[in-house]
Amino acid sequence: MRLLGVLGGMSWTSTEAYYRGLNTGVAARLGGLHSARLLLHSVDFAPVAAAQHADDWPATAALLADAARGLAAGGAQALLLATNTMHRVADDIEAAAGVPLLHIADPTADALLAGGHRRVGLLATRFTMEQAFYADRLRARGLDVLVPGEADRELVHRVIYDELVRDVVREESRADYLGVVERLVADGAEAVVLGCTEIGLLLRDGDAAVPLVDTTALHVSAGVDWLCASA
Ligand code: GLU
Repeated sequence: MRLLGVLGGMSWTSTEAYYRGLNTGVAARLGGLHSARLLLHSVDFAPVAAAQHADDWPATAALLADAARGLAAGGAQALLLATNTMHRVADDIEAAAGVPLLHIADPTADALLAGGHRRVGLLATRFTMEQAFYADRLRARGLDVLVPGEADRELVHRVIYDELVRDVVREESRADYLGVVERLVADGAEAVVLGCTEIGLLLRDGDAAVPLVDTTALHVSAGVDWLCASA
């Protein structure tokens, strides 16, 4: 089996889901005592989040490029960057490591198109909802991406950084998020992308009137495909 490098810790609450998902996925696929061959660099999230909020993306790129080089030097043959937001600097990370990066938006677009969805809502950090790097990759696949209004973007972002990345899951926030989903559906969303790797802690498919498409689960599944292709 090839060795997959995981850049995690952004935050650890979602990296935990990646670790479990990659292992259970490989075990289900290969049977017996098979498990995922992984090299994990779980960063300290505080300096990453501080640089994001200071709009210092080169600093986040430098930090993660360094970690990625370490994973490649340790033998990782591909990388999984276990966060949507930090795909803002995915190209820098991939170039620094010199190995392919399995981009989180690609299996997401595949799943949306396979489900027959064209007009999709996006729940994510402010960075992912408001900057072009993520929505444009979905648009390049022919998808029409809707983001919530200003107050709803503020709410979704606050819950991610004040609660979910700190392992806090509140019923009130779940209800608030479902309200945001309803407003996206009223605006025409046929499905809603859970475009932050922690949102699966709060919402799951079936909770709303439209499909909720979890990027963590899809990214994990892409990682399992890559690992099992070489087993
Ligand atoms: N895990 C989140 C995401 O998928 C947010 C934390 C981060 O900024 O990396 O975007």
